[in-house]
Amino acid sequence: MAELDRMEWYDLARTTSWTPKYVEQDELFPPEMSDPHNLPQDVWDTYDEPYKTTYRDYVRVQRDKDVGVYSVRAALGRSNFIEKAPEGWRSILKSHYGIIGAVEFTAAIYCSRAARFGRAGGMRNTGMFGILDEIRHGQLEFIFPHEYAKKDRQWDWAVKTYHTNNWTAIAGRHFIEDVMVTRDVPSSTLTNGFCLETGFTNVQFISLSADAARMGDYTFSNVVNSIQTDESRHAQIGAPNLEILVKNGKKDAAQHVLDLSFWRSWKLFLTLTGPAVDYYSPLDRREKSFKEFMEEWIIAQYERQIADMGIDHPWYWDIFLDELNYAHHGMHMGLWYWRPTLFWNPVAGVTPKERDWLEGKYPGWNDTFGKAWDVVIDNLLNGRKEKTLPETLPMLCNLCQLPIVAPPGTKTFKLHDHTHEHKGRLYHFCSEPCKWIFETEPDRYEGHLSLIDRFLAGEIQPMTVPGVLNFMGIAPGEMGDDPCDWIEAYRASVKAAS
Ligand code: MN
Ligand code: MN
Repeated sequence: MAELDRMEWYDLARTTSWTPKYVEQDELFPPEMSDPHNLPQDVWDTYDEPYKTTYRDYVRVQRDKDVGVYSVRAALGRSNFIEKAPEGWRSILKSHYGIIGAVEFTAAIYCSRAARFGRAGGMRNTGMFGILDEIRHGQLEFIFPHEYAKKDRQWDWAVKTYHTNNWTAIAGRHFIEDVMVTRDVPSSTLTNGFCLETGFTNVQFISLSADAARMGDYTFSNVVNSIQTDESRHAQIGAPNLEILVKNGKKDAAQHVLDLSFWRSWKLFLTLTGPAVDYYSPLDRREKSFKEFMEEWIIAQYERQIADMGIDHPWYWDIFLDELNYAHHGMHMGLWYWRPTLFWNPVAGVTPKERDWLEGKYPGWNDTFGKAWDVVIDNLLNGRKEKTLPETLPMLCNLCQLPIVAPPGTKTFKLHDHTHEHKGRLYHFCSEPCKWIFETEPDRYEGHLSLIDRFLAGEIQPMTVPGVLNFMGIAPGEMGDDPCDWIEAYRASVKAAS
């Protein structure tokens, strides 16, 4: 029998919708999982995924990708690159693996839900391949750091983080569970596929892959590249779904979930990728600033994509553009100051040369964040390192679970606790958009206790910094530190001046 071309049989082969005889349609596809809008089946049958693959092709391509990554690992395994790399580079890898690793497995659950509950055959098919992708990513993100664990316990946090009450894990779970695995399938293909996987993972993966190649870390560069090629394929599960919703009068619902996901994704990535790109990455290997990456990979791309789909800018667009100038600088400073809570050793990244670079990329940096760092520098120069370490906890947002930050010393004072009372409880938010997300779906978020709430409720004992660190599951030998050698650059200039 003559073989047919793939495109001659593909559509037919993945059209696996039928009319059930033994159960009701709603039992097979419960609306709360499959489609709360109750669109008719013939509408879902118009779902047309742009990237079409077959199992045979998929396995061949993925096998080649894995051979590529694992052979680079075998070839470079004894090069000891990671031990010779600067501390900032290790910070990037440790924070990446610890925060992203287990998320990959959660993403497999998200894809499984699409594979089981999607109303369109194409969505179920894409979801099926997505499961295999995400399992592969989880395995990669665990096995690479695992071989370093014998040298340094912080690498163990690649696997450990998600099973702890470390604040990064509380914030990460709150976000990931919201956008990946606790909404109906069509909404999740937008919050996760269209928004998070299409745009934001690029910022982390492409920017780091470029930096890694310049660093000579070909292992990491290959890992993240290999993962991102899968992401850009299975992320496409969202676009045809968005098209269906907009065409069938559900634009407002789509706009809502996209806006909440965009904001929440921004919060996570400013915390993870912002410090990595603008502070941890060695100065002589930097290509672009975090803001420049955001402008290229998020603003330009996301704007074009939503315009194509008939979706508007999020209502808070101006707030987002404003935060782009300062939020990650504030977060970096907070990470450094609360470094014992981290499972990496955050470098400060504020030597005079690095400050020149920051001032060039973010005019005004020296007059705002620079002045706050001057206080830290003064303390270090005068032997008061204890003043650069935490004695209390920062105020955390009840939605994103991240500290409230603002640029210091500016005339327009931005630091603001946005509060909201709901069922007799006072909630605190870092920003208008976080407050808006909570207010539009309070039932979803009302029961959650932030780290601060748990502290004030007496769940963390003793009520001291060591008590909090113990609650977070972080032990001496794992907790972040900075030997502060960088201060010598300032001591030299103080000497030269006197
Ligand atoms: Mn993935
Ligand atoms: Mn993915």
